[in-house]
Amino acid sequence: KQPAAVVGAGIAGIATAVRLALKGHAVTVFEAADTFGGKMHQFELPGGYRFDAGPSLFTLPQLVDDIFRLAGRDPKEHFRYERLDPITHYFFADGTRLNAWADTEKFAAEIEAKLGVPARDVVSFLSRSAHAYHATEKTFLHKSLHKAGTYFNADVLKALAALPGLGLTGTMHQRHAKAFQDPRLVQLFDRFATYNGSDPYQAPATLSLIPHLEHGIGAFYPEGGIYSIARSLVELAEELGVSFHYNEPVEEILTAGGRVTGVRTSLDVYDMGVVVSNMDVVPTYRKLLPHQPAPERTLGQPRSSSALIYYWGIAHAFDELGLHNIFFSKDYKQEFDAIFQQKTVSTDPTVYVNITSKKTLTDAPAGHENWFVMVNVPHHQGQDWDALIQQTRQAVLDKVSRNLGVAVEPLIRAEQVWDPRGIEQRTSSFGGALYGSSSNNALAAFLRHPNFSRKLDGLYFCGGSVHPGGGIPLCLLSAKIVADLV
Ligand code: FAD
Repeated sequence: KQPAAVVGAGIAGIATAVRLALKGHAVTVFEAADTFGGKMHQFELPGGYRFDAGPSLFTLPQLVDDIFRLAGRDPKEHFRYERLDPITHYFFADGTRLNAWADTEKFAAEIEAKLGVPARDVVSFLSRSAHAYHATEKTFLHKSLHKAGTYFNADVLKALAALPGLGLTGTMHQRHAKAFQDPRLVQLFDRFATYNGSDPYQAPATLSLIPHLEHGIGAFYPEGGIYSIARSLVELAEELGVSFHYNEPVEEILTAGGRVTGVRTSLDVYDMGVVVSNMDVVPTYRKLLPHQPAPERTLGQPRSSSALIYYWGIAHAFDELGLHNIFFSKDYKQEFDAIFQQKTVSTDPTVYVNITSKKTLTDAPAGHENWFVMVNVPHHQGQDWDALIQQTRQAVLDKVSRNLGVAVEPLIRAEQVWDPRGIEQRTSSFGGALYGSSSNNALAAFLRHPNFSRKLDGLYFCGGSVHPGGGIPLCLLSAKIVADLV
């Protein structure tokens, strides 16, 4: 088997390394940073607060289990997680509070009690979401969409034939507004567009199958936090002989005669028969393959949203909060227009607060909490982020303090901020976009970059900027598709 290089130790790069090692390749992972994880790294703030820096919501944990099973390991011995219940604590602008329970009937009953929407409408909506998910997932997520073989398969043809009957026409928002009259419930379901950095007023209705992931299959919390997904897989990779080179960025992918021949890093040149880039596909072409023609149409697809994140050590424990908390804006349309049309941050943003110390008690001192406070923002296009960080910080503090009836600012004991510039700098994601290109049009799934190069043999792509898309589960699936293709 040919030696393989993986460029980047993001979650997709790590998973690809494991899968290639299991196929018998000698695998070397080159990572520019001093550690693994990419967006999924962790850090501490003075005073004893630990934070997962990036992803916080975890669905489809079986995709991690699958990797351990493939390696002949019992997943439970290496990676444990619990199903969340409740999943999310919602705070609406009109003062309504609602818990999203894991059990569909209980969630629907809560919606009926708090919002007055008949429970049966919610159950029926979620079961349609489940149906759409099962009809399409194998086709759109588990295989390359860019190989003819994918389309000559009975399951896939069945799925494609079923699409028109799923009622998934128009935008996600239109679908939700048709299903429900209550604007708060429409807002709740529209929010799922942000799970891949998209705009519910533009994203196709097909994305309204995302709620099924959380409400049908479940939302989960890994023991020790999200970082343990990356850590457990790196441990497995090392056991399998994968070699990790940290602080060693790849500077060029070497080619000759229409195929890859190796990589040149900051330290050395390595001969390789297979190169998998886990670097965002835009800088992969611009920086590592400067002499190759780039697929400009693909690289020019609109980016997904980015984020402003305030990490706060909070000297108080709030009983009314859980692991995931959402404080909604008053006008969702205005908020998304600000992000995707005006390319700025709404003055009344929806605020997401993730508190892992609710689950991992050691993540904050007793009586304190570690708040990861996130606002969706556009990707970096030269905005004045320093001004936006200040303006948004005040808006966030006002909203959260008003909802909780407690002034939050005096409780902040430690603080750090991550913005789109910093996300780009730390992970090389183009513009600091969280999920590669957005899904703001019906063809987005087909316009993502394939998991292989059409021009260079031996060159493959994994991670959030290529097929099937961003977010932990899809990154893990990209690793599976790459290993299958290699
Ligand atoms: P990345 O994490 O982007 O890592 C790429 C790695 O490659 C980096 O370590 C980088 O240093 C390295 N690299 C780049 N260039 C080179 C080079 N030339 N040489 C060597 N190394 C290089 N997803 C969810 O599922 N749920 C969530 O709740 C969620 N929330 C998020 C919140 C935030 C704030 C962020 C930032 C992301 C969030 N995501 C979420 C998205 C998720 O984190 C990403 O989709 C996923 O982690 C991306 O993984 P990746 O494998 O594509 O690589």
